[in-house]
Amino acid sequence: MNAHLSVQPLVPAWQTELAKAFTNITDLLDFLNLQPEGLPLSDQAIQNFSMRVPVGFANCMEKGNPNDPLLKQVLPVSDELNTFPDFINDPVGDLEAAKLGGIIHKYHGRILLITTGGCAINCRYCFRRNFPYADLQMNKTRLSLVLQYLHDNPDISEVILSGGDPLLLNDNRLGQLVEKISQFHHIQRIRIHSRIPIVLPSRITPQLLEIFSRIPQQIIMVLHCNHGNEISPEVITACSLLKQHQILLFNQAVLLKDVNDQAEQLIALSEKLFANNIIPYYLHLLDKATGTGHFDVKTSRAISIMNEVKANLPGYLVPKLVREIPGESSKTGVFF
Ligand code: SF4
Repeated sequence: MNAHLSVQPLVPAWQTELAKAFTNITDLLDFLNLQPEGLPLSDQAIQNFSMRVPVGFANCMEKGNPNDPLLKQVLPVSDELNTFPDFINDPVGDLEAAKLGGIIHKYHGRILLITTGGCAINCRYCFRRNFPYADLQMNKTRLSLVLQYLHDNPDISEVILSGGDPLLLNDNRLGQLVEKISQFHHIQRIRIHSRIPIVLPSRITPQLLEIFSRIPQQIIMVLHCNHGNEISPEVITACSLLKQHQILLFNQAVLLKDVNDQAEQLIALSEKLFANNIIPYYLHLLDKATGTGHFDVKTSRAISIMNEVKANLPGYLVPKLVREIPGESSKTGVFF
């Protein structure tokens, strides 16, 4: 064998890393030098929505700090068991809008595909934490329905890959999906919504970048980063590789109580994103999914936080504060 030929491992490094993610509270707390006593932990919360935290993301947490803003996003706690009448299983009306299984066509000219139900991290505030993925995620039959739908609807110019996290698909499946979509000339952009470059940056491999560079359409990646501490040196490298491959990077964050509901945290996040060529695009008010009530920030407080952010940053670093209202033809602006 030619010693200069590089041999791909059977299992890519990012998948090995994913397999080592923390899936139980004890291991995560040990890693962080934290004692369970005094923490409002809940096994029932894990049964309702499993726990998954990549080691790299845990590495960005402050050891010994039970109030770490990254830990708060992933720790299953008893507050998740509280119920409120306005917190429901499908807060943004995805199921109502879903066509033919995996296609969500809510907005003019764009369709969103549920590519997979899996994520590299399970965020406790997730608006799709109660989503019936098995009924909607992509498979062979649904892919042919998607292609037929694109054929029948030439006014669609953008396809959004969502999930779960589309970058959790292996290179084969993701490559086939984007190549098939890219064959339609009326598709001008493929947009990928992913938290993976932030929580599992090793997924941004040369093989993945090569898939994207074969696609003639513009690729846009909307990242999901809620706090500046999530942006590690590895994340910076991954984002720089994406940028070098002409992928436009935007960020959407969710405003979360006790995670990023201080103006200085949002200011630091915007500064850090922009320093790494990522546009801080949206800040979402929480979508009211069952089990997430303890993350809610009231709209009046959100506006007052944003006034402070606006007073301290140039306009292009101030994300749009938006909420999603089921049935509306776009996100609803709350503060610009
Ligand atoms: S990565 Fe996104 S879809 Fe997955 S759990 Fe987190 S918020 Fe939900």
